[in-house]
Amino acid sequence: MSEKILVVEDEPTLLETLIYNIKREGYQVEGVSDGSAAIKVARQLRPDLIVLDIMLPGMDGMEITRILRQEMSVPILMLTARDGEIDRVLGLEIGADDYLTKPFSMRELQARVKALLRRVRIESEKTERPPDLKAGQLQFDNLTINPTRLEVTLDNTVLALKPKEYELLMYLARHRGQVVSRDQILERVWGWDFGGGSRTVDVHVRWLREKIEADPANPTRIITVRGVGYRFEG
Ligand code: CA
Repeated sequence: MSEKILVVEDEPTLLETLIYNIKREGYQVEGVSDGSAAIKVARQLRPDLIVLDIMLPGMDGMEITRILRQEMSVPILMLTARDGEIDRVLGLEIGADDYLTKPFSMRELQARVKALLRRVRIESEKTERPPDLKAGQLQFDNLTINPTRLEVTLDNTVLALKPKEYELLMYLARHRGQVVSRDQILERVWGWDFGGGSRTVDVHVRWLREKIEADPANPTRIITVRGVGYRFEG
């Protein structure tokens, strides 16, 4: 089964070009040109990846991302027109997994699509465990990470974590007690081809602390190691 990709772009010629070039790589492609169609098709299709233009009439790409992120953990490759949007697009506020600034070459697009899908595949292989639920489970007092279900619970309540928050926590937890640098985290959680800076890591750590720390202002689980990075204490 080839992977399914949803392309959202309101500019007809570009949409056609995108569809043509992604199909050529052997993927199944659906193309839509506005936000409500994007949401509808994403819900039906359950795509493996969404290529999403930011500037769309009506609902924009950021709004679409916000809605879909609550329902599915699909990776999103954002198409931006301006460099100034990149900071907002990359995880900080919006949570896109990667981006391309227009104009871009179709070769570049194909490379990014391939890289993103590969990253997701590696992640899911890493987290696929034998049926014994307990086996891969990580337990830290009242905090439990269940890689089989991609689920984190605190006092037996399931936390609503964004995909990157989950991956970050998983990475930190697997390196419990070790100092990991922001660069290491960026490379392992976001991938070597991620274009954003280390601020992305800090923002996600802050979000995670708000969810897993008893007092996020005085964290005892994710410790800041000044000038270096972070250490997970459990
Ligand atoms: Ca557009």
